[in-house]
Amino acid sequence: MDVQQIRKDFPILSQKIYGKPLVYFDNAATTQKPQCVLDSIVNFYTTYNSNIHRGVHFLSEKATEIYENARLKVKEFINAKSRTEIVFTKGSTEAINTLAYSFGEAYIKPGDELIISEMEHHSNIVPWQLMAQRRGAIIRVLPFYDNGELMEDMLEKLICDRTKIVCVTYVSNTLGTVNDVESIIKTAHAHNIPVLVDAAQAIQHLKIDVQKLDCDFLALSGHKVYAETGIGVLYGKEHFLEELPPYQGGGDMIKNVSFDLTTFAELPLKFEAGTSNFVGAGSLLTALNYVDSIGLDNIAKYEEQLLEYATKKIEEIGGVTIYGNAKHKASIVSFNIDGAHHYDVGMILDKLGVAVRTGTHCTEPIMKHYNITGTVRASFAMYNTFEEIDTLCEGIIKAKKMLR
Ligand code: PMP
Repeated sequence: MDVQQIRKDFPILSQKIYGKPLVYFDNAATTQKPQCVLDSIVNFYTTYNSNIHRGVHFLSEKATEIYENARLKVKEFINAKSRTEIVFTKGSTEAINTLAYSFGEAYIKPGDELIISEMEHHSNIVPWQLMAQRRGAIIRVLPFYDNGELMEDMLEKLICDRTKIVCVTYVSNTLGTVNDVESIIKTAHAHNIPVLVDAAQAIQHLKIDVQKLDCDFLALSGHKVYAETGIGVLYGKEHFLEELPPYQGGGDMIKNVSFDLTTFAELPLKFEAGTSNFVGAGSLLTALNYVDSIGLDNIAKYEEQLLEYATKKIEEIGGVTIYGNAKHKASIVSFNIDGAHHYDVGMILDKLGVAVRTGTHCTEPIMKHYNITGTVRASFAMYNTFEEIDTLCEGIIKAKKMLR
């Protein structure tokens, strides 16, 4: 993998911040966009812009073709069985809200239970809580060990005959843990319980094969995998999507409407009410083709080296606590300088041109687990370099001197 060549594809990376070269380590929040993705957006608006699915004219047909090609690309990328299993949403959050609402309506009765892991992003907690409140359901929490690994053995103990779904993240956005979702799915399926995998932090790092995983549902966000914001995917096994009621009503999701009776469109349009983000879908198509041109395996190998290097160098500094030391991790390092506030560290790093995220990372239960108010999070992508990690570490040493 030629990282210097890849960096040239991302115009934003050549910027200076406060006169210093930008070191962008906030990739878990959102990734930067390669020129081909930026071009695809401009090209869409300058050449094909027209609403999809409801036009017979040339532009509308062309825009529809790109949108549906994006669906086919996602289907291939995650190895779904059918294009009908790919529902476009505005992101992982909307995907999970869609599922939580529909699943609740279809299957949840008072007293039923759901299992959610302790390391979930708020977007895989709150939609289920809202549903549980509406339907009178109970949430059980699958905890994790201090090293950031899930207590998988606990799953069997939490499952009972009222358990209706297990919701778990593939990769923790705060701890970097790559969960053994295949094994979790096997355990749940042995009890006929479906599983939702939150793949928001996995899609850009790991090859996902939904048929091999055998997950029932999966959520992802385009902007985490080099595409535009406002486009994401809910994958669902066809038989579930057929059974589930729609989440939102409106245009494009219907077959016929009358004041007496409305019938719904075939999958996946039943779940795509209103004008979809078709330009975003086009950008996702381009982004996934770009990732394929580099190869997820190559990306994963390189990011693993970055993670190993960063972990070792940060540990060598001393007086720094890293949160999340699971055996299998994606390229995310959360840490605190002992005795210093994460915001202060983040601000000092910012002045050196290093962009990291500070705070709870939308995972307050993880903060509660460690009894902390937040962490500094450095998250690496394929365009980051070892030299940039050196700059981060120089910044940490500087912050340590200034703040302690
Ligand atoms: N799940 C995880 C693990 C995430 O990291 C994020 C984004 N930080 C989300 C869900 C939500 O994604 P989005 O904001 O794109 O909907």
